[in-house]
Amino acid sequence: MKTSVIGFPRVGANRELKFATEKYFRNELTEEQLLGTAAELRRLAWERQQKNGISFIPSNDFSFYDGMLDTLFLFDLVPEEYRSLGLSPLDTYFAAARGYQGESGDVKALAMKKWFNTNYHYIVPEIDEGAQFRLVGTKPFDEYREAKALGIETTPTVIGPYTFLRLAKFRGGRTRCDLFESAVLAYSELLSRFEGLGCKWLRLDEPALVYDLSDEDVRFFKSLYIALLSHKGGVKVLLGTYFGDVRDSYCEIVGLDFDGIGLDFIEGRQTAALIEKYGFPRDKVLFAGVVNGKNIWRNHYDKSLSIIEGLKKQGTETVISTSCSLLHVPFTLESETKLPDDVRAHFAFAYEKLEELRDLGSLADGEHSAALDANRRLFDGERYEKNTAVLKRAEAVSDSDYTRLPAFEERERIQKAEFGLPVFPTTTIGSFPQTADVKANRSAFKKHEIGEQTYKEFNRRKIAECIAFQEEIGLDVLVHGEFERNDMVEYFGENLDGFLFTEKAWVQSYGTRCVKPPIIWGDVSRRKPITVEWSVYAQSLTKKCVKGMLTGPVTILNWSFPREDISLRESTLQIALAVRDEVLDLEKNGIRIIQIDEAALREKLPLRKTDWYSEYLDWAIPAFRLVHSGVKPETQIHTHMCYSEFTDIIPAIDSMDADVITFEASRSDLQILDSLRENDFRTEVGPGVYDIHSPRVPSVQEITDVLRKILTRVDSGKLWVNPDCGLKTRGTEETEKSLKNLVEAARTIRREYEVK
Ligand code: GLN
Ligand code: ZN
Repeated sequence: MKTSVIGFPRVGANRELKFATEKYFRNELTEEQLLGTAAELRRLAWERQQKNGISFIPSNDFSFYDGMLDTLFLFDLVPEEYRSLGLSPLDTYFAAARGYQGESGDVKALAMKKWFNTNYHYIVPEIDEGAQFRLVGTKPFDEYREAKALGIETTPTVIGPYTFLRLAKFRGGRTRCDLFESAVLAYSELLSRFEGLGCKWLRLDEPALVYDLSDEDVRFFKSLYIALLSHKGGVKVLLGTYFGDVRDSYCEIVGLDFDGIGLDFIEGRQTAALIEKYGFPRDKVLFAGVVNGKNIWRNHYDKSLSIIEGLKKQGTETVISTSCSLLHVPFTLESETKLPDDVRAHFAFAYEKLEELRDLGSLADGEHSAALDANRRLFDGERYEKNTAVLKRAEAVSDSDYTRLPAFEERERIQKAEFGLPVFPTTTIGSFPQTADVKANRSAFKKHEIGEQTYKEFNRRKIAECIAFQEEIGLDVLVHGEFERNDMVEYFGENLDGFLFTEKAWVQSYGTRCVKPPIIWGDVSRRKPITVEWSVYAQSLTKKCVKGMLTGPVTILNWSFPREDISLRESTLQIALAVRDEVLDLEKNGIRIIQIDEAALREKLPLRKTDWYSEYLDWAIPAFRLVHSGVKPETQIHTHMCYSEFTDIIPAIDSMDADVITFEASRSDLQILDSLRENDFRTEVGPGVYDIHSPRVPSVQEITDVLRKILTRVDSGKLWVNPDCGLKTRGTEETEKSLKNLVEAARTIRREYEVK
């Protein structure tokens, strides 16, 4: 049986592309050298797939930065500000991806957004007013030929016109309809060029079909492809869909002249039901996505085979495929030297997933039953030792544990009296600059170069300096600075039972940036207090309140590889209970304000609005409430989110029932505030008054103006004053200046307020 891969990770098993590209940025590598590294990585990926007998090996899945950006360049849609820099094509491309500041000019990068429900970010294409699609690029053809020269026939993959236009931004008030004709022409030309090269199959990826589609969306998609496929010629066209099911367009899709259709059986909850209900046409090939492209657990062969058998029985010609691109998983387990054998047996990264495809192919043909036996043993056996205490505790959680008493208004009254803070209290989000000495101290401790005492003494000194600085400039609610943390999720993962860490399991997040998510392996519990010592020390240095600083359960889950043997809801519940213990311990030890960050809460919101509550918010929000419902009325709970795009889930955010929420607002021009007002948002708010993602120091005047603007929308009794995120990536000098100005601005506003 044939097998197919949608896309392969591209940074290299040792992040070779990342390092080469960054060297190129620093002028330490020539363009030719960078191209050489890229070609070598492509060769390795293709050969690895060939070795595993993959029948449909993708090409053009490689990218120096991002596939959407590649498509923008392929079709001559590059915005004028980048063209006019007069740089080489590669540098123009990087200018659009990362911005450019130099002799040729000064332009910002195109915006970046999360790619569907993944942690990968794509570049949002912006299309100039007069621009039309024109096939000018050669990347897909070059890479197809490059593979062919190595003796490998590939399936070129290109982002399809529907998804491209759906995710693009149009300048000058145009809509996607204005680009309909040129898109059809350019994509038709793409098909005929591939035909000329002797290409057999071309895949057009249309993941946007898994969103909620309106009738008009479906009509637009359909007319695009009716027009395009009428030019099809000799190349077979495969429609790729993933990250969900295509319930709104299934009937239209199967009615169009595609030769193959890719459907996701992992995240597509209705995929099987759709096929069952409407059938699958005999004249098309079904590419069944049964090997998970997003998570790192071994495939359950019996489950996958039963799907494939079912399709076979209906007489559907089936190809076994990954559910989406393997871009979202690390390269290979071969790089992991520290995982015990009985643990690693449960994982499959990209290389190992190729082996799974090969196994499934032979098994579907009735061969190679040894692989099936081994797989059964893996799934039948006890994977890990259950933590019965955790399971019992989770089971015993009752409805009342999700409710904090007394109700918000009563608490607000109590806390105003308790803390006696000025109006417009000032605070920060938690971390202070992670200067080289801070990182060096942590790393020396990790490598056992220094002992625990030396390590801690250094951090204590840092905390003391941090507290002294905050007191000196007059901030109202202080923080300890988070000098002991590398990453807000890794730090807690390392201190909780149930997590595993890898050495090289990097996954591309955007451009040259990769992340290494922890793996949730078992039942999660807290061994001992994690942050209490640091917070208590910080609090001992000042009469002002120091905020305890924790990461929330949903964020810990969303930035890890989750378990597949229990639901996300159950897993989050376990994490929530562990964090709850920490909250209560902080409180017991005299910490009166506790911030629980949910930086990634919005990230895993389901792609379809209809699933938002039932599939996610209905358990994610209660999990947060469970974390803090046990504290006294006078203990103040803060939360923080790194974005302001929650206009559409404001009631859900309010029902987290925190006392104060801080969030990013400076860049989105405070629109969010109107929505808060419209929704009678009751939680006190700290909309970030300046952007910490830039080294710029905002002036007192500037911050005062922002605050005045905010005050036209937020009640004075509910407003906090703070930067828009943690300060760990910033330098010390700019941070100190910015915070001084922030405090000064708050004072100015207070004076104006008192006069009124
Ligand atoms: N408390 C964290 C910090 O200040 C929050 C980080 C974040 O929101 N990403 O670093
Ligand atoms: Zn943040």
